[in-house]
Amino acid sequence: MALLIKGGRVIDPGRINGPADVLIENGKIAAVGPNLKLARNGDPGLQILDATGKLVVPGFVDLHVHLREPGFEYKETILTGTAAAVAGGFTSVCCMPNTNPVNDNQSITEFILDQARAAGNARVFPIGAITKGSEGKELAEIGDLRRAGCVAISDDGRPVMNSLVMRRAMEYALAFDLPVIDHCEDLHLSEGGCMNEGFVSTQLGLPGIPSAAEDVMVARNLALAELTGARLHLAHVSTAGSVRMVREAKARGLRVTAEACPHHFTLTEEAVRGFNTHAKMNPPLRTWQDVHAIKEGLRDGTIDVIATDHAPHAAQDKQREFADAPFGIVGLETALPLTLALVEEGILPLEGAIAKLTTEPARVFSLAQGSLAPGADADLAIVDPERSWEVDPARFRSKSRNTPFAGWKVKGRVTATLVSGRIVYELPEDGR
Ligand SMILES: [Zn+2]
Repeated sequence: MALLIKGGRVIDPGRINGPADVLIENGKIAAVGPNLKLARNGDPGLQILDATGKLVVPGFVDLHVHLREPGFEYKETILTGTAAAVAGGFTSVCCMPNTNPVNDNQSITEFILDQARAAGNARVFPIGAITKGSEGKELAEIGDLRRAGCVAISDDGRPVMNSLVMRRAMEYALAFDLPVIDHCEDLHLSEGGCMNEGFVSTQLGLPGIPSAAEDVMVARNLALAELTGARLHLAHVSTAGSVRMVREAKARGLRVTAEACPHHFTLTEEAVRGFNTHAKMNPPLRTWQDVHAIKEGLRDGTIDVIATDHAPHAAQDKQREFADAPFGIVGLETALPLTLALVEEGILPLEGAIAKLTTEPARVFSLAQGSLAPGADADLAIVDPERSWEVDPARFRSKSRNTPFAGWKVKGRVTATLVSGRIVYELPEDGR
């Protein structure tokens, strides 16, 4: 079983950026190079995929996805969530534990991995809970979670408010060399808030969430990472203050990494006008100064990774009054064009943008994915960087449609996605 991807521009960040062919054998990358001349070229067992005019890149790795199963299958399942992933070019997704029950024990982790195998789309790397039931009180069985296949721990959806519990979690995680992810939000400061606190929230008469709700928890977590030496990963950074503190902590040598979401570098709180619940997310959309700081953070490497925080919600849940609607948007199928917009804007070079979706997230969670090195799993995305399209939520593979980008004209589309050398997604003929 061999497959040759011919004629594309291969971008394997830090390794190759130029015209090259990719040879896949038995689900692994066998060779990458210009004009691969193969004895097997005439072999009838060799399948050829023409990638002329396309980018051939490692499959994207998303460190922050909510697959909703078990417990909320009406919003998303592992099957539909991973179908959305591969449609967006993601071949690996790390799923947050805030399911029902919470992924705080081995049997839930095993269930998730079984469902992912049965779905046969993207690879799924579960994230275990930090505390039992994500209640913030008693540590989960972190060693068991790691043995069952969890690649990091987090109580995402909620912060770990008790600083001593967080310290102990970091000490345990250090023993297993697991990254600890915190959703940085001081729940006392954010209580009752449904959007960014500022001029727009005042005009709309909506209760706000101040930037400080995020900043104080980032500061605390950095102090605890310094105390314990743990690997700290900050989810969905949304404020200029967070970016500044992470930059300074990195300069001092702390083991801290950070991610930003496409919506946080694309939209501001202005999107909430009209009480659009598709612009309701947590952390909330902030000001243009925050958006600018996040772009600077992406440019200078303070922010390592672009992650989606894909958070599906059923239509009836989002069709409530703004204050009552749940937080979150789907993100897997729109991340690529929103990331490529940073290239058009001159914030990142193309290779740098691809790195934020591939090599960087793989490095942050120590995953063996995200590269086209010979011997690696043949997980790839083929991208038409010039293809313009309109975001139509009705066409999403995700079970949910909650996006603020409906009707947006965007550029850059995944035309095929391969996992272990197998084509798991192809853009339909009609291009939709
Ligand atoms: Zn979160």
